Amino acid sequence: MFSRIGSHLFRIIHGFQRRGNNPSEIMDGLETLMVTADLIERILTEQIMAATEEVTIPLRYWVDDKKNRVIMVETSGDFVDILFSFLTLPLGTIIRLGNKLEQHVQLGCINKLYQSVDNLKYDDFWNNICNKMLLSPRNPLESSCERLKVKIDDTEPTKYFLCHTCSKEKDLLLSTFDGARCRCGKLMRKETKLLVESKEELASKNGVFVKPNAMFLIFDDLRVVRSSPSDSVKTFLKHRHKDLSKIPENSQNVGMKEILSILKQALISKSPLSDVLLKSGSKKYSCSQDTGPIHSKGHVEIKVMVSKSENKILFAEADGDFVDFLVSFLTTPIGSIVKLMKGRLCLGSIGNLYKSVKDLNPSWFIGSSKESLLNIRVAPHFGCKSNPLEEDDSPQYWYGPVVVKDNEGRIMISKRKDMLRDPTKVKLFDPRSSDGAREPIVGFMKRPCLFIVSDDLEVIPMTTDSSISYLQQLGNVKLNDLEEHFIKVRKSHEALDLLRASLTSNEAALTQSLFSLLWLCQRCIPFICVLGSRHKIKEKKKKEKVIISDKRHDERERDKK
Ligand SMILES: [Zn+2]
Repeated sequence: MFSRIGSHLFRIIHGFQRRGNNPSEIMDGLETLMVTADLIERILTEQIMAATEEVTIPLRYWVDDKKNRVIMVETSGDFVDILFSFLTLPLGTIIRLGNKLEQHVQLGCINKLYQSVDNLKYDDFWNNICNKMLLSPRNPLESSCERLKVKIDDTEPTKYFLCHTCSKEKDLLLSTFDGARCRCGKLMRKETKLLVESKEELASKNGVFVKPNAMFLIFDDLRVVRSSPSDSVKTFLKHRHKDLSKIPENSQNVGMKEILSILKQALISKSPLSDVLLKSGSKKYSCSQDTGPIHSKGHVEIKVMVSKSENKILFAEADGDFVDFLVSFLTTPIGSIVKLMKGRLCLGSIGNLYKSVKDLNPSWFIGSSKESLLNIRVAPHFGCKSNPLEEDDSPQYWYGPVVVKDNEGRIMISKRKDMLRDPTKVKLFDPRSSDGAREPIVGFMKRPCLFIVSDDLEVIPMTTDSSISYLQQLGNVKLNDLEEHFIKVRKSHEALDLLRASLTSNEAALTQSLFSLLWLCQRCIPFICVLGSRHKIKEKKKKEKVIISDKRHDERERDKK
């Protein structure tokens, strides 16, 4: 198109040069110029329209008019891919997307946690990359989610960097953040592209998780099944509809805004599709309290301050290990939490998505995507050793000239050794390690450090701040009402309770998850009092006995005399 404009302009200029300043010829030239301006305007408008035209996905759905509820939605794999991709989103990403699109997503105390990480100073973190890692955590299935029809996760795609100085050496380091420090002391800033392994990875029309052309039924609570006449009949009958012709059919194209609303409702409601498509009020979820057995080792210790009169934990005093554990909730994908809680996390209807992946026949999935969705883990290097959710194993990368078509001869990074000539092994570098992996990884927070964590998970650095001022800020707290306790947060028990409470309680994550540990001790207090009084009675009786026996002794002595 722009070559057309160019040739018009060339003709005008050429015309002016050749014909001199004849008025009629100048008019001709000006007219051509006007036509060209029109053409430019039209082309630019088309381009702007194409850029702003939103990608949408068509949905057909049937509504129970009396109950004002969506009975079911029928749609292609494209929409199911987007629903299943909700499971891959880290908690921090969900909150960031909500804030960005002005659709506040409430995820218990996780919002407060995200906000306080955002408020922390660069000095509070181990290095300047840690803060980016927590506020824009990486999606563990990033390369798959890149191909979704409507991409809701706007996290910047992973880039790969090497060190300019060391790129010819044997043990190369590879960083996924710009400007990490190499072991030679220089910054790693040489960007290198990753070779895409298969053609399917490049083609978005081939689907992401499920077969794109297959049709699926989605119920109001986000259960997904293959579209089949028998399932439709069962569902209509369940809603007491016997005549298909009398059930109103609707259709709507959904885009970014609606999809984000469905995600938001999926976390709090049992009927997210009705909430969004019919704009009806949402039903709030209820929470269960039992925990599943998880076999993992390790613990962190914290000190908590309890208000005796209010029966709650006011705040915890913690070091970097505990705060690292807390902030690692932000990098944890929601699907991995659903898996860990074994269906006992009542968070809207998100659990039904996980169950649908589990129940759908593997033949409707592409490659190993069913397994990937059921076993989502924290992205490599985004985890924390005391989080019950362990991070994904870091993949092995190679570096060298490509031997396969399309990119032949280009020097690239690849996950497959056989795609490169004379490949050099590269080690993925943990961005949290200082001095180019010469020292062991510590965590996200700078050491030594001291933090106050409030009951609703606000994290406040106390390393340099005044602790007296903090106590003053608490307001009307009687110092003799406070009681200090030490708690062991074991990875296998309390850590899991805390993760659950963080997601389901809006203001008392610490009290809800850890107070029961203190309850046993509290019960001891009246017991000790009773014991104490009994002991006193015994003492008194003993004394009385002694007095009586003394009296008797005196009387006997007197009698003897
Ligand atoms: Zn280097």
